[in-house]
Amino acid sequence: MTLAMAWLEWNGTVYWSQYSRSAFEPRSAVTSLIEGIWQLLPGSAHFILRSRIFMNYEPTEMCRGMIVVCGKRMARLPAPPDDILRRMRLKIDAIEVDALTVSRTSRSRGHSSSSAFSLPELDRSIECWLLSREGRLLVCAINTSGRNRTQHAEMNLLQLWWMREKRPLPAGSRLITTLEPCPMCAGAIWECIERTDDFRVQYVSPDPGTVVNKSVLKRSALLEQCKNLDQVVFFQDSNFKEF
Ligand SMILES: [Zn+2]
Repeated sequence: MTLAMAWLEWNGTVYWSQYSRSAFEPRSAVTSLIEGIWQLLPGSAHFILRSRIFMNYEPTEMCRGMIVVCGKRMARLPAPPDDILRRMRLKIDAIEVDALTVSRTSRSRGHSSSSAFSLPELDRSIECWLLSREGRLLVCAINTSGRNRTQHAEMNLLQLWWMREKRPLPAGSRLITTLEPCPMCAGAIWECIERTDDFRVQYVSPDPGTVVNKSVLKRSALLEQCKNLDQVVFFQDSNFKEF
């Protein structure tokens, strides 16, 4: 099996990531590369990610969405060119980025200011919840994208869920968010749900921007506006734990 890889070149350095994604997992080689670059180099990530991102596999909706929101251009190649591969192997002007091993701020509600690196004042107040079919709260998360642009509330929720459960968002459950999901979060939700015909995504405020039109959820029947959050009733049982 060919290992899934993503890479880009910026200022003479190759940044690359390899990742074997499990089905329904909210992470891929592309997202690991982008998330990892933001985590490692928050000051220059914006410039680095203007470079074309290459991958050796068919990008998922999650990969495409993250490139729309946090990158610029992409291209698929059968494999990295020989000179790039050689640099990766010999670690010559090549940095392997692994989003899993870099330190991260806590993604759960109420812990956003616990890291010395977090900039909670830049985090827009966006929150989301995953509820079971019966209305039980399964997991919740807040936006922590002040430092790492990839850490929207929904991405945080998906990664928290995967860390704990290692399974898709269950059929019949619904995800509620205070702001309409961007294309990155929409793509990731799409890739992580068990059944696209038995899942709902509800948002309170529409996103007035135009980029949201590139969201895969816009083309689906899953998405609906929930104008009044007060009407959403859910309960938290004694097994619920914050991360
Ligand atoms: Zn988002």
